[in-house]
Amino acid sequence: MFVSRFAPSPTGLLHLGHAYSALLSYEMAVKRKGLFKLRIENIDFTRCKKVYEDRIYEDLYWLGISWEEDVIKQSDRIQVYENYLKFLNDKGFIYGCRCSRSDIKNALSALSLPENSLNTFIYPGTCKEKKLSIWRNNVRIDIDKIKNYFGNIVLSFKETGFGPNGETGLQSFDLNWLQKKFGDFVIARKDIRTSYHLAVTVDDAQQKVTHVSRGNDLFYATPIHVILQYLLNFKTPVYIHHPLIKDKNGNKLAKSKGAESILSMRNSGTNIKEIRSILGL
Ligand code: GLU
Repeated sequence: MFVSRFAPSPTGLLHLGHAYSALLSYEMAVKRKGLFKLRIENIDFTRCKKVYEDRIYEDLYWLGISWEEDVIKQSDRIQVYENYLKFLNDKGFIYGCRCSRSDIKNALSALSLPENSLNTFIYPGTCKEKKLSIWRNNVRIDIDKIKNYFGNIVLSFKETGFGPNGETGLQSFDLNWLQKKFGDFVIARKDIRTSYHLAVTVDDAQQKVTHVSRGNDLFYATPIHVILQYLLNFKTPVYIHHPLIKDKNGNKLAKSKGAESILSMRNSGTNIKEIRSILGL
């Protein structure tokens, strides 16, 4: 059964970029006689607000979108993510880390190592052998341990949309590439006990999503989700990355940069037909 999803974070009002993403995903499911699921990605407790969550339901409803009943709210699922951390810990695939950003920056500049493509740092491994608790610290994946266990395996995912540079079709990478690109990335933060990467991987599997349709700003994070799917014995869905909707000046729409909300557009009388035509749908 074809299953797609929309997974907004309630950190502000939805704008045209969200409407585009939600409509694409919803209409894909309708066309394939599949299911469309909703997930509220609210693990960032300081930025996510219940009022924005309520507006998401209203805006989607107004856009003519309906969803299956098993809506997942990530804030209800911290225990589930912790169980998966325990599973990875029992295998020895993760470790606790208490380095701050500036500790990492200093260690890297001492070693003259660069930042990676997600604009984070390739972790120099300072805490790797310290055997720090995963329950009281940030948690990192241990790619060397995974390589020792599985060898330098090749993983892949099928892209039926496009990455930012036109990437499409089968995307393959091995663990050496992953290690060079991302290093031992964080899969759980000390304060929230999960990360976007872990939560999205677990929840797509839980919601039995077969086709992940989302903005192409997440294309380059997909290998991280694919390795987590492999380690947690989940099936890798098909990915359909779509271009981001830009404003008049060619910048990505962002709540933080004051992009006009769907709510204000509908309050000022814009109808769905007009929204669809702006979006080229
Ligand atoms: N929650 C993310 C966002 O609002 C989307 C995550 C995803 O689609 O994988 O940007």
